[in-house]
Amino acid sequence: MSLQIQTNVSLKPFNTFGVDVRARLFAEAHTDADIRQALAYAAEHKVELLVIGGGSNLLLTGDVDALVLRMTSRGIRIVHEDCDTAIVEAEAGEPWHPFVQETLARGMSGLENLSLIPGTVGAAPMQNIGAYGVELKDVFDSLIALDRQTGETREFSLIECAFGYRDSVFKHQVDRWLILRVRFRLSFSAKLKLDYGPVRQRLQEQGIKTPTPIHVSRAICSIRSEKLPDPAMLGNAGSFFKNPLVTAELAARIREAHPGVVAYPQADGQVKLAAGWLIEQAGWKGFRDGDAGVHALQSLVLVNYGAASGLDLLRLAKRIQADILERFGVSLEMEPNLY
Ligand code: FAD
Ligand code: NAP
Repeated sequence: MSLQIQTNVSLKPFNTFGVDVRARLFAEAHTDADIRQALAYAAEHKVELLVIGGGSNLLLTGDVDALVLRMTSRGIRIVHEDCDTAIVEAEAGEPWHPFVQETLARGMSGLENLSLIPGTVGAAPMQNIGAYGVELKDVFDSLIALDRQTGETREFSLIECAFGYRDSVFKHQVDRWLILRVRFRLSFSAKLKLDYGPVRQRLQEQGIKTPTPIHVSRAICSIRSEKLPDPAMLGNAGSFFKNPLVTAELAARIREAHPGVVAYPQADGQVKLAAGWLIEQAGWKGFRDGDAGVHALQSLVLVNYGAASGLDLLRLAKRIQADILERFGVSLEMEPNLY
């Protein structure tokens, strides 16, 4: 079937903030051939191409004058398996959490801490998704991306992806690389990462003494469901700000004034501050201005109570950034991708 291009399409169902903007053109790519067709169309009609997955890390600040291409390609396959390791490949359009569940059901470990993150496999390398002490890079094998400028495909190794904290080479070249499929290196012998207090605590509460990867996944799902708003009920894009990395001197100054500051020293001497703590301390938790607000349970999450526009949310984010800079001398960087 060839690519179906629609005009003037509402993007409200396709971004988890539920922001109501329109795309000039919209299509879904089920196959590599669809993607190539979309690229050819965009070049021929001199229109920008915006690739999206689940829309869970986007802030759309106005109508999108582009061809919005939603990745819907599917397929999960094992490309290598021995008694210890499996290399599993998934198509970019595979929804992330069901993919994680599938690997766990097949007895593979590695992705359990990344359970219940919304979005697609293809977007996961963009910001090197992370949660509860595991990042995508820890289980990454390689990926195949299409160079939008030349039409060639290229394989990226771990090093070539330049993964960092919520960062990758792709995030800095959004108009160049279209991720087609990703390979993960998973294990049949679980090496669980239980450093994050709430996970250990939840397993303890459940009376689980020797957890399996499935136990860890379930514990994380239950913590997340209690703490994070479900985008189907309340529009949001998860954490709106990255946790800032500051110098040890600045962290010490903040601790002097605020002994309760949540801070984690890093191997490179910097200190990671919990942005949510800073925002809560500054009194923003539960704040609401019209339909744009700060979640009542998790101050790192901005929410859309219904009719907030992307600009309303951006204005609120900027007020918070200015306030945190003034109070603590800390710059907060936005995490979602702005369009
Ligand atoms: P989209 O939002 O559709 O796109 C994100 C960016 O990637 C855009 O720039 C887009 O152009 C680009 N892109 C998408 N697909 C491709 C592709 N195939 N090739 C090239 N570029 C592409 N993130 C975390 O890291 N950890 C968390 O724990 C976490 N929890 C969340 C909880 C909630 C409730 C929500 C709403 C979000 C959370 N997020 C988290 C953020 C988000 O889910 C992830 O960043 C996710 O990987 C985004 O996937 P997506 O398919 O929705 O991407
Ligand atoms: P939390 O448990 O309230 O902890 C607050 C922050 O402290 C976290 O953001 C985390 O940083 C850091 N932290 C906690 N324990 C740590 C440890 N043992 N070592 C190092 N750092 C530690 O966090 P939360 O908001 O409920 O989120 C739980 C996890 O899910 C976090 O990893 C978070 O990143 C992830 N999450 C991400 C998003 C998103 O959209 N990006 C949304 C929801 C949840 P890190 O963020 O660096 O891990």
